[in-house]
Amino acid sequence: MLQIIDLSSSYGRIQALRQVSLQVEEGEIVAIIGPNGAGKTTLLNTVCGLVRACGGEIRFQGQDITNMPTHRIVRLGVSQVPERRQVFDTLSVRENLLLGAYQRFRHERRSTIEADLQQVCELFPLLQDRLDEPAETLSGGMQQMLAIGRGLMARPKLLLLDEPSLGLAPLLVREIFRIILELRRQGTTVLLVEQNARAALRVADRGYVLETGHVTMSGTAAELARDEAIQRAYLGRSVSGNHGTRVGASEGGKEAGRR
Ligand code: ATP
Repeated sequence: MLQIIDLSSSYGRIQALRQVSLQVEEGEIVAIIGPNGAGKTTLLNTVCGLVRACGGEIRFQGQDITNMPTHRIVRLGVSQVPERRQVFDTLSVRENLLLGAYQRFRHERRSTIEADLQQVCELFPLLQDRLDEPAETLSGGMQQMLAIGRGLMARPKLLLLDEPSLGLAPLLVREIFRIILELRRQGTTVLLVEQNARAALRVADRGYVLETGHVTMSGTAAELARDEAIQRAYLGRSVSGNHGTRVGASEGGKEAGRR
């Protein structure tokens, strides 16, 4: 569904992504883990056309979307839920959700969009009772649900989730990951950026480790979770085993977890 080949992006002289290659198959949850500043958000923003790629290629369902305007990428079926929610504080919960469907209003019936809003409320029942309240009155966890719901209102085939568990209490983290699994069950493909590697690898099918703009390791979620370096660096454990595929190790690539 998504194929990223040798992708590079930079902010002026700071190169944030260096020849990143990865792929996401239809129906998968793929996790990207890595430390602060590794380039995870930049990767999602480059896929969405919010940050310009300065090299490489991004293909979505076979179509080259590299540096395509964001609204066209959304129309093709890619939707991003940004880090720290970024809901519109003073707008109501309903208005925030409807804004997620902004591009659909021109081509689709209001009743179809309202039906999708109802579906989002079924996924997040807590939002139902707060539809007419300003988003700023919601707790952090509910704002995260709202942000995911807003992303879903675009009817994405591929949902890009940026740190959905950030700043949430453990119970809410569990709820958010339960919802991610439910989304996959309903047919949405998910690319998930997370610093909570333990939770991410528990729900993901496969994963990539991104460090200082490089993919340093990839494998199935189970392989990565068993890897000793990943356990040390990201899972807070020290059990032996090494099963993931190190990327570029022979070319001087940094070993996963050594930071
Ligand atoms: P975090 O988990 O802290 O969000 P990240 O893995 O998502 O980290 P990015 O936010 O993509 O990492 O940042 C990658 C690099 O690009 C970092 O060195 C960061 O300082 C730099 N960077 C990110 N955004 C900008 C920007 N708007 N202007 C300049 N540099 C930036």
